[in-house]
Amino acid sequence: MRKPVIAGNWKMYKLLSEAVETALALKPSVANANHCEVVIAPVFVHLKTVADRLEGSNILVAAQNCAPEAKQSANTGEVSAEMLKDVGASHVIIGHSERRQFYCETDESVNKKTKAALQSGLTAIVCVGESLAERESEKLFEVVEIQVRGSLGGLTVSDMERIIIAYEPVWAIGTGKTATPEQAQEMHGFIRKILAETHGGETADKIRILYGGSVKPENIKDLMNQTDIDGALVGGASLEAESFAKIVN
Ligand code: PEP
Repeated sequence: MRKPVIAGNWKMYKLLSEAVETALALKPSVANANHCEVVIAPVFVHLKTVADRLEGSNILVAAQNCAPEAKQSANTGEVSAEMLKDVGASHVIIGHSERRQFYCETDESVNKKTKAALQSGLTAIVCVGESLAERESEKLFEVVEIQVRGSLGGLTVSDMERIIIAYEPVWAIGTGKTATPEQAQEMHGFIRKILAETHGGETADKIRILYGGSVKPENIKDLMNQTDIDGALVGGASLEAESFAKIVN
């Protein structure tokens, strides 16, 4: 019932020529992947070029962030969701742990950005996840619940149609340590229970919850076998077309 999503987050890794090369290599290798939605997230300045080169393919393009302000306004250095949509993005990643850790992103700013994204017609991939210290002190459920409720506060049931959640335990991002499928399932089930409380069971059942944290071709199958895992947000293994295509396929 929930169509899986495999999204690649290219972070700040590629020059324009490399982004185009990876996108073009990916195009034929995922062309038959009708079983899932395929999304890649280049940096802002590559969005238009990559989106243009992927036109007519089954690969969608996401931004890695957007401004909390929806309107054109005096905000030097920011890029609005409307601008992202205008250059060909259909999705935007919001509240990635790197932004929460290094750029002062809070649940409040994530909430504003999510609303701005929805207002501009983008699908928001909203990231949540606990740190290692929070897991070890058994605060993981409390922390993730606060993030989910805070990030999605004030969204209506119809807004939720364009929300994708990515559960990314911070200790598993870029570390090679993947949550076990059981650990991931436990948190995904918990997040869906919160969504049922905030927006009702019918809505909760429709929302895709992606797992992120050292996903590779070798572990995707076991993760996808879990009831509440509806895809993946992939960092490192999305940088090469071959490994990302393997995950998709
Ligand atoms: C990410 O950046 O969202 C991520 C999950 O990275 P990696 O797959 O490299 O752990």
